[in-house]
Amino acid sequence: MMTGTMEHTARTPQHHPDSEFLMDYAGGALREPLAVLIATHLSFCGRCRAEVARLEALGGSLMEGLPRERMSAGSLGRLLRRLDREGEEERPMVMDRGDPAVPYPLRPYLARLGSARGGGWANLPWKKRLKDVGEITLLDSFPGFQTRLMRIAGGSAVPAHTHGGMELTLVLEGGFSDSTGQYLPGDVAYADDALSHQPVADEGHDCICLAVTDAPLKLTGPIARLFNPFIRS
Ligand SMILES: [Zn+2]
Repeated sequence: MMTGTMEHTARTPQHHPDSEFLMDYAGGALREPLAVLIATHLSFCGRCRAEVARLEALGGSLMEGLPRERMSAGSLGRLLRRLDREGEEERPMVMDRGDPAVPYPLRPYLARLGSARGGGWANLPWKKRLKDVGEITLLDSFPGFQTRLMRIAGGSAVPAHTHGGMELTLVLEGGFSDSTGQYLPGDVAYADDALSHQPVADEGHDCICLAVTDAPLKLTGPIARLFNPFIRS
C-alpha cells in the first residue's frame, strides 16, 4: 500500500487464512492453537471479521431453525450488518485484559507468561534456539500441535525446512519473506508438505510471529542437526 504511512496497525493484511479455517472458527470447530491464531488474524483483518460474522449468522439461523420464508434477503442482510457491527465492537471487549501492546486474543496467554503491561514482545521469556532465533511455547497441552511465538532477528533466516503436516504462521511485528511472498503484520502464511521454504526476516526489525504446526517440521538443509533442539521442544 502506497499510503505514505508506515503505521503497521493501519495496514490491511494481504495474506488471509483459507476459508475453511474461517468456517471452522465460526462453527467453533477449531482446536485452541488454531483458534487463537485465527482470532489474532481477525484482530488485524476487517475482511475476515466480516466473513466470520457472516458465517456465524448463517450457522445461527440454521441452528435456530428459522423458517426460510421469514428470512427474506432483506432481513438476512440486516442481520448480517448488525452482526458485523457487533463483531467489530464487541470482540475487543471480550478479552481486553493484559498487555495492550499486543493483539487482544494473545493477552491472556502472555499474561500467563508474566508479560509486563505495556512491555510488548521484548520482555517475554524468550528461549534462544539459534543465534538469531528465539521462541516461546504458548500452549503445550495439545498433543500433536506446537504453538509458539518466534522471534527472528532482522535479516536472519530460519533454517530451510518442509512440513510433516501443516504450519500456519501469523506475523505480529516486523516481516519475513520466502519463496511464496512477503508477509507483514496480520498476514498468515500457510505451508504444508508440498512446500519447502526458508523464511528470512526483513532487514532492520525483529520479526515476531505466532506459528502453529500440527506435525513436526522436517529439516532439509545442512544445518538440520544443529537445529534439532529447536524442533524437538
Ligand atoms: Zn483476513
